[in-house]
Amino acid sequence: METDCDVLIVGGGLVGTSLALALAQAPLRTILVEARGPGGSAPAPEPSRQPNLVQPPATERPGERYLALSRASMNALQRLSVRPLLTGAPEPIRAIHVSRRGDFGRVLLSAQEAGLEDFGAVVPASVLGRALSGALQAQLTTITTSLSQAAAGAGNPGLTHLAPARLLALDCGGDSVTATIESSHGPQKLRASVVVGADGAGSLVAAQTGLAAESHDYGQEAVVFAAGCSRAHEGVAYERFTDDGALAALPLPGRRVGLVWTRRRQADDQAADVASAGPMPDAPAVLAQVQAQFGQRLGRLHSPGPCARFPLLRRWAAQTVSGRVVLIGNAAQTLHPIAAQGFNLGLRDALVLAESLLAAGNNASGLASALAAYQTRRAPDRQRIADLSHALARWPKVSLPGLGLVRSLGFAALNASTGLRQSLMLAGMGFSQDAPAAVLEPAVWSRP
Ligand SMILES: Cc1cc2nc3c(=O)[nH]c(=O)nc-3n(C[C@H](O)[C@H](O)[C@H](O)COP(=O)(O)OP(=O)(O)OC[C@H]3O[C@@H](n4cnc5c(N)ncnc54)[C@H](O)[C@@H]3O)c2cc1C
Repeated sequence: METDCDVLIVGGGLVGTSLALALAQAPLRTILVEARGPGGSAPAPEPSRQPNLVQPPATERPGERYLALSRASMNALQRLSVRPLLTGAPEPIRAIHVSRRGDFGRVLLSAQEAGLEDFGAVVPASVLGRALSGALQAQLTTITTSLSQAAAGAGNPGLTHLAPARLLALDCGGDSVTATIESSHGPQKLRASVVVGADGAGSLVAAQTGLAAESHDYGQEAVVFAAGCSRAHEGVAYERFTDDGALAALPLPGRRVGLVWTRRRQADDQAADVASAGPMPDAPAVLAQVQAQFGQRLGRLHSPGPCARFPLLRRWAAQTVSGRVVLIGNAAQTLHPIAAQGFNLGLRDALVLAESLLAAGNNASGLASALAAYQTRRAPDRQRIADLSHALARWPKVSLPGLGLVRSLGFAALNASTGLRQSLMLAGMGFSQDAPAAVLEPAVWSRP
């Protein structure tokens, strides 16, 4: 049966758009379907008003997440022509400092020690979203809200962006997948050789294909905001474990840090299952608590920006492939942000999938069998990062007499062992085993 496209990507978030870019030059007919309209990910900036405090920069947005992108991810963004579009230079992470409140040990990893300038960089999620969209616009063959135009435009190799348009249902029988998609022209059908679910944590693609993920509620939330610091951060990213969560302070331009405070969800928020954003309620009290948890490493914290809160759940799909359908990014795994790996891992999903599809050529059966190879290749990296994030998220809960000392000795031993430090650094930078070519250092990928 003649299909409308080779690859249908459902979800144009950070990961789905990355996949579309990685396939842009391929001899494939690719359609990217996104529920939000162009610019939907970029709410207008709202200056925060906090009495008696220095105003934070007006560019800090409510609902912003500050993403720690690994060196591997930054390399890939360069190859996808996204990096030059990151406005307001990404702030490099030159060192990582890990400690636990109440214990004396700590680990300090420096990029210089690994012979590198940085471990990666911090980029606001909205800035990354806009840069990905900008790179996508430059690659598009067709941009449309009309499904029939999308199908016609997809008759030849190239990339079509259909937005706003929403997947309603999938029919996976036969030698293609039929997707029912609703756009401003009403519901219509689109046939694809393979369908990629990049539709995030509540993935409809997963639900429609029996790939539904198991889920675990951590009973925690992440409170995310930026603040000024009276001492220079010098490119150090801090991770500090506390009794009921953790606190990350990520370097931002100037004397500001992006704070991610994971803590037990407050009693009145137990039913919360959506992220909320806005001016920080009771900002001085929250800052005082964060300061008490964090200590004086960065001096006095002040001038908080708008705040966002995210309920923390883990979702894990053991199988990511069913026939002609595959899940990537948050649709395949939604991780606790403590290890700062969600997008880094999802980007590697996208890049490995692009490699697998490209190797298969543009015949329908080759594309379908590429998915099985993809699943096998991705399994070790996914499992390792998901286990790491889950273990770190649950770590403060383990409370035994003397454990503080053991933990401190663990930190001290780790700090002293060159071998352990090097493997931790490689993992942190995203150079997993069997990594996709796009994440490798330029010196490696430019070799003949
Ligand atoms: C507090 C916090 C801090 C974080 N920090 C880091 C960090 O430091 N480093 C890091 O790497 N990661 C981090 N992450 C994780 C990272 O933000 C996510 O892993 C990443 O954004 C997931 O992107 P995605 O494209 O897979 O999913 P999403 O961003 O959820 O995108 C899914 C897209 O699919 C679209 N969609 C949904 N349903 C449909 C449908 N039926 N039809 C069409 N389109 C549809 C949606 O509109 C959306 O655009 C953090 C997360 C949180 C919450």
